[in-house]
Amino acid sequence: MNIILLGPPGAGKGTQAATLVAERDMIQLSTGDMLREAKNSGTEMGKMVAGVMDRGELVTDEIVIGLIREKLEGDAKGGFIFDGFPRTLAQADALAGLMAEMGQSLDHAIELAVNDEVLVERILGRAAEAVAAGGTARADDNEESLKIRLMAYYKQTSPLLGYYYAKGMLQSVDGLGTMDEVKASIGKVLA
Ligand code: AMP
Repeated sequence: MNIILLGPPGAGKGTQAATLVAERDMIQLSTGDMLREAKNSGTEMGKMVAGVMDRGELVTDEIVIGLIREKLEGDAKGGFIFDGFPRTLAQADALAGLMAEMGQSLDHAIELAVNDEVLVERILGRAAEAVAAGGTARADDNEESLKIRLMAYYKQTSPLLGYYYAKGMLQSVDGLGTMDEVKASIGKVLA
């Protein structure tokens, strides 16, 4: 079973993906995590994307498709969870092509539906918690970048909802419940 988690920043994609990894032996492919790793380890690519990421804009399709292509060569175990990818129609087409090349299919695009006030609260809360715990917040978890990330979602990523609906793959779950409630809703889709 290969799935895509769709939803705006703060919808809970990463949290739910982590649960699926722990409980279903699936493999999480988060382009955001891959890009942060490149940025933190100071690779050439990491240096190139740092400013774009901190501002909350999208990195080029070419870079993220390249990252995903490399990871897809590994063993799929319980299946792949695409978390934060695809984010544009070009990425969605590229993913369909890569899966076809590998003889794999995408089973569901699961939308975590939330409202904007909750997102802003969650993200600013996540930043405040990180700081309170003595750490540092994500560079893009601030009000300014958040506005740009939300706009990138609505302009560039939300058309994917229609795209996957038309392919008969879209499943929408209520992302506003507790972690366990959302997990149960996703479980129903996967059953
Ligand atoms: P995330 O952790 O998924 O919120 O991603 C953090 C940041 O990484 C985003 O705001 C973008 O700058 C970049 N990024 C992650 N995934 C993608 C993607 N699929 N396409 C373009 N940019 C991405």
